[in-house]
Amino acid sequence: MLNNENTFSNKYTTADGSNRAYVSFTFLKTLWFNTGTLCNLACKGCYVESNPINDKLLYLNFKDVEHYINEIQINNWPCKTIGFTGGEPFMNKDIIEILELCLEKQFKVLVLTNAMQPMQNKINNLKRLSKFKKLNFRISLDHYSKYEHEKIRGEKTWDRTFIGIKWLINNNFKFNIASRMLNEDEQVIRDGFAKLFKQHNLTINAYDPQDLVLFPEMNSKFKTPEITTECWSILGIEAKNMMCSDSRMIVKRKEDRQTHVVACTLIPYENNFSYGSKLKDSFKKVYLNHPHCSKFCVLGRSRCSNN
Ligand code: SF4
Ligand code: SF4
Repeated sequence: MLNNENTFSNKYTTADGSNRAYVSFTFLKTLWFNTGTLCNLACKGCYVESNPINDKLLYLNFKDVEHYINEIQINNWPCKTIGFTGGEPFMNKDIIEILELCLEKQFKVLVLTNAMQPMQNKINNLKRLSKFKKLNFRISLDHYSKYEHEKIRGEKTWDRTFIGIKWLINNNFKFNIASRMLNEDEQVIRDGFAKLFKQHNLTINAYDPQDLVLFPEMNSKFKTPEITTECWSILGIEAKNMMCSDSRMIVKRKEDRQTHVVACTLIPYENNFSYGSKLKDSFKKVYLNHPHCSKFCVLGRSRCSNN
């Protein structure tokens, strides 16, 4: 059933009374931090509505992150990867120290960035992290053509991103590319990126889904069906492959200036998907009563982490 005022409203049942699908928590594999929603860009379709003035999620500081890293280590949880997303993480003034902390504690670290001015402004400090082999960046290019990319990201975003990419290459940092599926076949997109990477001498395999991560369009205007417990077998998908089965994200909300643990990177604002301030209290079933669950994860078959 497509969306009306009753869809996605009841936690346990869909609008037609079926049992809503849920995802059981397995173990913590990846912890994400949303470093703050402020961003130097205001891309169309940004799923957290980031832009230069949206500070609904405040900057996390070093102590906020250290607190959760300590919670993982004290409890000996098997979490191996720490991810950072925003907004633009490099707009956070503590980001270098935060990354250094996680890397020194031997976590794999993944930073989602647009590689533009905020990152480039921190180049001198970032250089000192190049010795850490567990640091990876994921850079967003919304299309393989400058024109389509700039239609989403704004003028003069393409060349500036490539300045950042070239700098990362010259300083031996590892990165992959993330893009969106915008009304084109996956094969066409991968072929387009393969050509682009060749033009720029980038050693990224456009046909490897880890090197070029493609995400479905997150346009909220498109309706999406609710997911019931029956859908898993009908679609041939396993709940344990959803991001919320083994990941959580930390956010700091403006309204209470407190950190919260939320189910995943895609739904940072809803209280329904929040579990208080302690990681251990978040290891629970997640009921999929949000359109992103359907559009992005179940029908889009995407997840945010690298593993
Ligand atoms: S760069 Fe990323 S976080 Fe910033 S507005 Fe664009 S999509 Fe959103
Ligand atoms: S959007 Fe988040 S909560 Fe919903 S299925 Fe995806 S990972 Fe789970």
